[in-house]
Amino acid sequence: MDCIFCKIVAGEIPSDIVYQDEEAIAFRDINPQAPVHLLIVPRKHTPALTDLAEAESSLTGRMVNIANQLAIKEGVAASGYRLVINCGQQGGQLVPHLHLHLLGGRQLSGTLG
Ligand code: 5GP
Ligand code: ZN
Repeated sequence: MDCIFCKIVAGEIPSDIVYQDEEAIAFRDINPQAPVHLLIVPRKHTPALTDLAEAESSLTGRMVNIANQLAIKEGVAASGYRLVINCGQQGGQLVPHLHLHLLGGRQLSGTLG
């Protein structure tokens, strides 16, 4: 499958991995929008949030949990951070493999779009 995040998950494309378990990995965004910009990515290919089955809803909880742990590890838990999932074209999603952005380390803008 020609999916860049599947290739990162498979280790075929190098990335700066900061976390991995049996279900998900996290790595630094190649084009960081903040001093801390991580992507939390399920190993299983799901194109977008809208494709997640109801039975898989625990996955998003786990992704948020991982992000919270990484926010502590990256030293932004106290100062604050933002979690974002872009979904679809008008949601600004560029990579069609579900992922959660963790942004922090600077004052983020008060607008969301
Ligand atoms: P989206 O707009 O789909 O929510 O976000 C995709 C993110 O993936 C972007 O922030 C982009 O910089 C990041 N990205 C795209 N290709 C790569 C890559 O090959 N490696 C890494 N580490 N990040 C990538
Ligand atoms: Zn994929």
